[in-house]
Amino acid sequence: MRINMDIYAIVEATQELHFGNVKDLNVNRIELVTVPTLDGEIEKLYMSPTKVRGVARRALMWKLNDLGDEQIKSCGIPATCGKCDLCKLFGGLMTTSGADEGSIASRVFQAGGVAIQEISPDIKQRLCSPSYILEGQIGQYDKEKIKNLLKNKGINEKDLERLSTPMPYEKEYVEASALFPIYWHSLLLETEKGDRKLSEPQMVAYSFLESLKRIGAGHPKGADIFHYSWDGKGRDEPLLVVDIYTEPLGKRPIISPMITDAKKAINEFIEKANLTQTKDGKFERYKGDNAESLLRCLASGEPTSSILLKSSETSASTINNKK
Ligand SMILES: [Zn+2]
Repeated sequence: MRINMDIYAIVEATQELHFGNVKDLNVNRIELVTVPTLDGEIEKLYMSPTKVRGVARRALMWKLNDLGDEQIKSCGIPATCGKCDLCKLFGGLMTTSGADEGSIASRVFQAGGVAIQEISPDIKQRLCSPSYILEGQIGQYDKEKIKNLLKNKGINEKDLERLSTPMPYEKEYVEASALFPIYWHSLLLETEKGDRKLSEPQMVAYSFLESLKRIGAGHPKGADIFHYSWDGKGRDEPLLVVDIYTEPLGKRPIISPMITDAKKAINEFIEKANLTQTKDGKFERYKGDNAESLLRCLASGEPTSSILLKSSETSASTINNKK
């Protein structure tokens, strides 16, 4: 049985972040999007879904490798193998001549990423400082002394010539506490693990959670799900929604990129998340803490309270038993 699993979240940059864009002479720019609004246009910071996707795919490559998956060792970008569990779920493009050429459509899609607040990037000056221990001190820069030190370690003359004087450079950053709505949609063909290292829902949940801490180019990295009181009274819970369904019976908590007011955006997210027509066996929506614990259980391969995932597991194993 085909099952959809969607994730909606508002994530926060928990410190400055950099999302690389074309390098301007001496300034490392970040990615921005122009958003036409009802009264003109504005520029917003952008956590590009294609970048989130790359981070998610790499997180799964490591995980499958750690679990002893042999097939994943011959898979990577740009030369995707088309045979491993990652290619089957995230898609692959096989262009190597002689091999099986063709492509596999992805079943996991990332979207969103347009910042809520209208904040301009922050330009900071950075300096790549040396870190050698010289005469008991770290970080001093005496080119000749460092050259001598490296020479004694056997580094050849030609390589030593490349040792340059530290150059200051400028880098644009996303301001800390910028909020980004991000959305994932996935279409699962198999919900049980079978003889694979990870089940499909497990791969989606694991890569979503893992990618959060590795978002951003260079250093520092990391975002986290923003917490807010859903009913305006109780304790703060993650702004996170997970849907598992065969019929789309819930309103998708998606925020218009034109909104620049964080409170308004959060309220819109919560209002939409509360609009569902739950029909047993067709649609399940998990919100806040429940959504987060569902993702964590799925990611670790623990049993969950989802009836849809369980029922499709049972039906699949019945089919297997019949074989
Ligand atoms: Zn592959």
